[in-house]
Amino acid sequence: MADVIADLQKFLDSEWNPDLTVGEWWEKLGTEGWSAPAWPSAWYGRDLSREEAGRVAQTIQQHGALGAPGGLGLLLAGPTIATHGSDEQKGRYLRDIVTGQKAWCQLFSEPGAGSDLAGLGCKAVKDGDEWIVNGQKVWTSGGQIADLGMLIARTDPDQPKHQGITWFAFDMKQPGVEIRPLKEMTGRAMFNEVFLSDARVSDSEIIGGLNNGWAVANTTLMFERAGLGSGGHGAAGLATPGSLYGDLDRRAGEFVKQRTDGGGDAVNMLGGGYTLISELAKANGKIHDPSTRQALMKLHTLNELGRFNNLRLKAAKAAGRDIPGLPNISKLSMSEIVRQTRDIGLSVVGPYGTLHAYDRDERSALDAATGNPFLGMITEVALFAQGPPIYGGTDQVQRNIIGERVLGLPKEPGAAKTTPYKDLPKNG
Ligand SMILES: Cc1cc2nc3c(=O)[nH]c(=O)nc-3n(C[C@H](O)[C@H](O)[C@H](O)COP(=O)(O)OP(=O)(O)OC[C@H]3O[C@@H](n4cnc5c(N)ncnc54)[C@H](O)[C@@H]3O)c2cc1C
Repeated sequence: MADVIADLQKFLDSEWNPDLTVGEWWEKLGTEGWSAPAWPSAWYGRDLSREEAGRVAQTIQQHGALGAPGGLGLLLAGPTIATHGSDEQKGRYLRDIVTGQKAWCQLFSEPGAGSDLAGLGCKAVKDGDEWIVNGQKVWTSGGQIADLGMLIARTDPDQPKHQGITWFAFDMKQPGVEIRPLKEMTGRAMFNEVFLSDARVSDSEIIGGLNNGWAVANTTLMFERAGLGSGGHGAAGLATPGSLYGDLDRRAGEFVKQRTDGGGDAVNMLGGGYTLISELAKANGKIHDPSTRQALMKLHTLNELGRFNNLRLKAAKAAGRDIPGLPNISKLSMSEIVRQTRDIGLSVVGPYGTLHAYDRDERSALDAATGNPFLGMITEVALFAQGPPIYGGTDQVQRNIIGERVLGLPKEPGAAKTTPYKDLPKNG
């Protein structure tokens, strides 16, 4: 690992320049294997473990350089395509992900298919060497700024529900895609409803084979749980990837400045909540309160358990073994960490926790009025904390998976797995 960090340091010393545009910097970072160092070296990675990749990100940050493009491309689409795509498809999609040129969203959930994702109704019907897609997706994070979507759609309603699904790399910038933002109580509109009306996708954009989408989607979900469980949503920097958002042409140094100024959001804070709250408690004297100290120790313990679990997994993998269910356990643990962070954060800031700023201007005004630039992070985590126990599969669904697939408990009864999708009862 020391050699890797020395290589990285050399790269940063010679290449980092805050006057580069974000796009120029990510081009260098991505093609040298530093955006996705845990990916295979044949495909823009360096074959590092997740923990080693974390040290790479930390080194980039400590150098004062802008980190890798965050978002669902790097977290989900890239690893899924690296696992199931043909070499031609890896060539077509992966470079644009590590260099942040294209942003991705996840078109999985529908109004009637969330936990029961395999019950999805969005359909793709063959038309020559293309497919015509009709349906509705919902809770699509980043859909409004995505170039491409990880679309799962029903391609064969005569098969049982898990078997007639296909995973497509779907072009979001086409007629027939209507995106409507959904505003959250944090004040942001992170996710959207997406309506697909006679939208098109081609055979060559099928990843992992026709009607094999359930297996491919499970790979995506596995990476989602593992990524979220390790404390992040791929948010390595504050610049946003993709051709639509407009950050690629901005000066890279601007984003590093924003970070050192205390800018950030709930998702960025999830990993560092313990340190921030401890510092706030030291500053306002709450650190002397025994119940605050007890709660902080509980949070610290949960974080340490997560770290030890990562080390256990690394050791098991090095010995050619696996720890079944660990991604699910990590995701459950992350949800608990977020809830604890919410509760302790609010308790430490006291009545100030009722003051939330809903946009950037309001936040500057509130920072100036309270003199506490970190208050916004505490209130945003508090309002956002309801999300992590839901996305990537709810806490209840994680427990079902651990029960059925790891502990061998009986599966839910019913003939849904063998009945053709078209004959299953539908809601509404
Ligand atoms: C912040 C956020 C971001 C998201 N981003 C995306 C995205 O980018 N793309 C995307 O496709 N989706 C996204 N989602 C959607 C998310 O994946 C779904 O909300 C989630 O899968 C739950 O589905 P649902 O909302 O339909 O709830 P439901 O499935 O209707 O569940 C309702 C309740 O019933 C419980 N329940 C359901 N089935 C069972 C069962 N069998 N056993 C026990 N309990 C059960 C659930 O745990 C839950 O408490 C996001 C969600 C959030 C909150």
